[in-house]
Amino acid sequence: MSQAGTGSDGAGPRLVLATHNKGKLRELRELLRGQVPGLDVDTQVVDAAAAGAPDVVETGVTFAENSLLKARAVAEATGLVAIADDSGLAVDVLGGAPGIFSARWAGRHGDDAANLRLLLDQLSDVPDGHRGAAFVCAAALAVPSAVGTAHETVEYGQLEGTLLREPRGEGGFGYDPVLQPVGEERSCAELSAEEKNAISHRGQAFRALLPAIVEALART
Ligand code: IMP
Repeated sequence: MSQAGTGSDGAGPRLVLATHNKGKLRELRELLRGQVPGLDVDTQVVDAAAAGAPDVVETGVTFAENSLLKARAVAEATGLVAIADDSGLAVDVLGGAPGIFSARWAGRHGDDAANLRLLLDQLSDVPDGHRGAAFVCAAALAVPSAVGTAHETVEYGQLEGTLLREPRGEGGFGYDPVLQPVGEERSCAELSAEEKNAISHRGQAFRALLPAIVEALART
């Protein structure tokens, strides 16, 4: 048996990612692999469902607020260190929209094809030189009082690019087929998962949060 508080006996989850998206969980596990002594990422880093955490309504008006709402609620409900992210597409000529409304831009949550088509139609008259946009992500960490002094941290990531006129590529999700990153000839949907993770807004935000995650987990 390990010493109390080290968590190194491999028992039970130590970190919850406030999501039901298995792809995000996989990305976070890879980021954390080998970074925290004694942390078994495959069994001790879990998603909200595995931790029995409730769904959280995103009532914030910024990515940071929404990521914090989710991380805080899950940390409070489970007594575990929790992480959440919130992300979307910010289009220059739309003043940052769809922004926090990215997942439901066409009215129905998660209808990627309809969201993308509406956006392309809205921008049909916008010339090539004015089609700048970026994927933006806020990643939040919430440490509950059960794990020492309660505190929160937020970090950000941004993937800048240009909006294409028609979707290209089969990979990814959401607006990936219409965002061509700066310096790339391909859309995000034409990049491999590894290529996209290396430059993505979410990868940047999670990597920026890594020191705070490691520090928090050292206390569990
Ligand atoms: P969420 O933060 O995972 O809920 O993402 C919100 C919405 O933003 C998604 O439904 C997508 O429409 C869009 N989005 C966020 N990240 C990406 C990305 O990496 N590629 C494409 N679309 C994204």
